[in-house]
Amino acid sequence: MFKRQTLIAWLTLVAISVMPFTALAQTQIKLHSNKYSIQDDIKLGRQAAQEAESQFPLLRDEQVRGYVESVGRRLVEAIPSEFQHPEFQYYFKVVNARDINAFALPGGPMYVNRGMIEAARTEGEMAGVMAHEISHVALRHGTAQASKGQKYSILGGIAGIAGTILGGPGVGQLAQAPFAVYLLKFSREYETEADILGAQIMARAGYDPRDLAKMFQTIEQQGGGGGGFLSDHPSASDRYARINREAQSLRINGSANRDSREFAQVQQRLRGYGSAPTMAEIQRTGQRYPQGEQTGNVPNNPPTGRVSYPSNRYQSVSIFNGGVNVSVPSNWRQVNEGNSVWFVPEGAYGTYNGQGVYTHGASFGVAQTNSRNLQGATQELVNSFAQGNNNLRSSGGYGRTTMDGRSALVATLTNINEATGRPELIRLITTQLRNGQVFYMVAVAPQNERGFETAFDQIMRSVRIND
Ligand SMILES: [Zn+2]
Repeated sequence: MFKRQTLIAWLTLVAISVMPFTALAQTQIKLHSNKYSIQDDIKLGRQAAQEAESQFPLLRDEQVRGYVESVGRRLVEAIPSEFQHPEFQYYFKVVNARDINAFALPGGPMYVNRGMIEAARTEGEMAGVMAHEISHVALRHGTAQASKGQKYSILGGIAGIAGTILGGPGVGQLAQAPFAVYLLKFSREYETEADILGAQIMARAGYDPRDLAKMFQTIEQQGGGGGGFLSDHPSASDRYARINREAQSLRINGSANRDSREFAQVQQRLRGYGSAPTMAEIQRTGQRYPQGEQTGNVPNNPPTGRVSYPSNRYQSVSIFNGGVNVSVPSNWRQVNEGNSVWFVPEGAYGTYNGQGVYTHGASFGVAQTNSRNLQGATQELVNSFAQGNNNLRSSGGYGRTTMDGRSALVATLTNINEATGRPELIRLITTQLRNGQVFYMVAVAPQNERGFETAFDQIMRSVRIND
């Protein structure tokens, strides 16, 4: 039988990972011991991604995202086989923020700030940052660090955020949840490893690994980056030197002279959007998408309202960092809107006057109200919905029901959808969480379409609350 202390001592010993070889031999990197499974990485990353996307404004530009994705693909394919985890799903999204930063989550979700793409002087420099972040994922640094019980564990981060969502401040304050949690601070050792593997991936993908080193200079010249990518340890000049040393032992696969036209086009496209807000501004104002501002980021694109019927197949989804589980029709997709989560069929979601509008679907949220009893709290919620929807009417009082075995109230509301002009029926179901906050589900469909009732009932019955 293992004794706990013995195991920890052993872990410390095997965690020596960067083995410096003789000159001109590529540095061998070893995986750190990790008490989490591959599936843990995937699950944790998925939860954190969901949380991140409810707080960061994503750039809704398919051309830019597709370009970043194609660079990311090329790099992922170049991960050395010993660090390829076929279960991982790498994907790449662009955050509409000015800070020069990027971060990746366990299992593969990766977020590249618009500011980073704009700051990079070449595609190679941008790819360098991405290769570094991909390396953290491939080397499973998030859970390796958590295995050591270090303070910036991703597990701690997620638990901390779950605390603010299900146990913390009111709805208005949720936007202040600590962004820094995603910008994991890795140890110096992990950063060096990510630089080295990043350089190796670059060369294998046909990029000059020295472009990763150059990006540190670019970031410094542009006034330093956020705390995430260019952290204060190791110093930028140490990293620059270390990467260039590694580059001497690497052979670049194919041609490093990539066609830079596409990169230039994407940069030009981004400049056309005007200046992006900084992370700090987003955090301070709690506004991910500026209201009434019709930039390319928030096109006026109302939903068509032409949707398929809900599939009979359901998929289980975890929301609010595992605080709630729910099953939704498999042909519905998840849309994070501020502090609530929507599940909608294709065609039921769009934007109108800078805000998300929905014609069919279900959403979930948590609200802090002044009222301690459920009836008063529900009334407060209805009032707050009415502020954004002038045509919202409440018909009759509240009915009693249950949700996950708890007593719940159901209110039926009518509305005229401002984007489509169609009358719609809204069901609001509320129940109290242990901490006194209200958990609610909203179900919306046009009044003359009854095919959604069964789905809404089934979704409501599937709700499981873990508070
Ligand atoms: Zn890093």
